[in-house]
Amino acid sequence: MKRRDLLKAAALIPAAAAVTAAPTQASPMTRKFDEEYDLVIVGSGFAGLAAAYSANKNGLNKILVIEKMGAFGGNSAICGGIACMPDTPLQKKHGIEDSPELLVKDMLKVGRGFNHPELCEAMAKGASTAYEMLMECGVEFKDKLIRLGGHSAPRGHIPTNASGGGIVVPMHKYLLNKGVKFQNRTNVSAIIRDDANNVCGVEVQTDFDPNTGSAKGEMTYGSRHGIVIATGGWGNDKKFVKTTMPAYANLKASAQPGATAEMIKSLLSLGSLPIMLDMYQLGPWGSPDERPAGPGSFFADYAFSEGIAVDPMTGKRFVNELSSRRTRSEAELEVMKKGTKAKPNYPFTFCGEETTKRSEGFRAAYRDGAVRKSDSVAELAKLHGVDETQLAQTIAEWNEIVEGKPDPFNKPLDVRTQLKPPFYSFRLSPVLHYCMGGVAITADAQVVDVTTCEPINGLFAAGEITGGVHGMDRLGGCSSVDGLVFGQIAGRAAAKYKANV
Ligand SMILES: Cc1cc2nc3c(=O)[nH]c(=O)nc-3n(C[C@H](O)[C@H](O)[C@H](O)COP(=O)(O)OP(=O)(O)OC[C@H]3O[C@@H](n4cnc5c(N)ncnc54)[C@H](O)[C@@H]3O)c2cc1C
Repeated sequence: MKRRDLLKAAALIPAAAAVTAAPTQASPMTRKFDEEYDLVIVGSGFAGLAAAYSANKNGLNKILVIEKMGAFGGNSAICGGIACMPDTPLQKKHGIEDSPELLVKDMLKVGRGFNHPELCEAMAKGASTAYEMLMECGVEFKDKLIRLGGHSAPRGHIPTNASGGGIVVPMHKYLLNKGVKFQNRTNVSAIIRDDANNVCGVEVQTDFDPNTGSAKGEMTYGSRHGIVIATGGWGNDKKFVKTTMPAYANLKASAQPGATAEMIKSLLSLGSLPIMLDMYQLGPWGSPDERPAGPGSFFADYAFSEGIAVDPMTGKRFVNELSSRRTRSEAELEVMKKGTKAKPNYPFTFCGEETTKRSEGFRAAYRDGAVRKSDSVAELAKLHGVDETQLAQTIAEWNEIVEGKPDPFNKPLDVRTQLKPPFYSFRLSPVLHYCMGGVAITADAQVVDVTTCEPINGLFAAGEITGGVHGMDRLGGCSSVDGLVFGQIAGRAAAKYKANV
């Protein structure tokens, strides 16, 4: 079925949808697809993989995962892979008390109440099932946990290779063994609905070249159980970011090049309810001295936790270094505003040598010059253009806090380490990191229709393409869990749904 045939049928779209439904076509009266599957899943990151896993577990055999890029895995493959899951065997082993309820509390606080509570709860409660899935797929975590900003407990599970690849690769392998078909360089260009407006397939461009947008062929795929959209965020779509949030237009983005906006546009055209599309999360561990989310960002998480961050202009701390990403990024941008082009004022975070031994990313960031060593307070002050006496006082005050004096910023301290030379420091400059907004979904991962506020039959979505789970800001290490949990929910719900194919 080619695009021209689908266009002939466009008249079947109801009036309200017809004005906006450019990339989304109604299917003709007699539907003939080039290929048919039990379930078509679009996107091969955490959410898409988890959807394939649970669809397979729930009895679907012919599953197709479509990926437009040459490489599978999207942002999930390049990310740090930290997964903040409460109440796991690893937490118990380390004697850490935690619960899904505490995670929900943390998420609502950092999301400033803009979260959809039922989605938060579904995510937190589903984390243990996601953990079991990861274990079954052969994912391995380090024998330690990290506390990221805004979390009430150390619950960050780190894959042994400190990368999302440590999750994506074993899952991909597991699913291949289960007979799931993966097809790369295939761009979904339209979502197909049947006469009754239910979603039943996709139109794709095959041999797609993401660099040029060209493709060699077109195909249609029918999907007997609706479709799952797991296409991630659009942080690298400069025009869409600028249009939705002009203030962030010039920020560098941490996302992979394929993180563009065509699928969110397609979903909007189809009549999906949008949530907070102008809301983005900044990564407070960005730096002018490395690519967005390079190895220094991992080092920074440890320096924030065990060291401090300082404003060069004042020589003082300026934020709770373990507050939410939004709070830290906003504070860093305020510090940077005090500088000029000729004399920038980048805040910096630093720690002592002990901390570097624990930190992922340190060696690469130090080798590449993003993290720099100073053998004394004087050297550190000179490196960052800070008043030496004030910096020495700030360090002395911090060391008293480590010994038990109250912290005016109230930072939680899991590891109490005195700050002493040599120091390792890293300049900070926030990067655009995560799309808070997306399409609205139900707790069953069904996409919600903008006109009826009811689910769109046959259309499921999971992961960063959806909005509402995290509200205005996301806790670190919770996007992986979001994608893995809602991917599983979407796969399960799709397996129950029967499309008219
Ligand atoms: C550098 C970096 C570090 C991060 N670190 C962490 C971390 O440690 N912990 C954490 O929880 N989160 C982290 N995040 C966030 C997290 O990685 C993402 O939010 C998450 O991976 C999104 O998963 P997803 O499955 O929704 O989408 P993705 O993993 O991005 O997958 C979506 C896929 O869909 C494909 N696609 C898009 N449109 C189409 C189309 N039209 N047709 C076919 N395919 C399409 C994309 O190419 C992509 O491969 C990080 C993000 C970045 C960028």
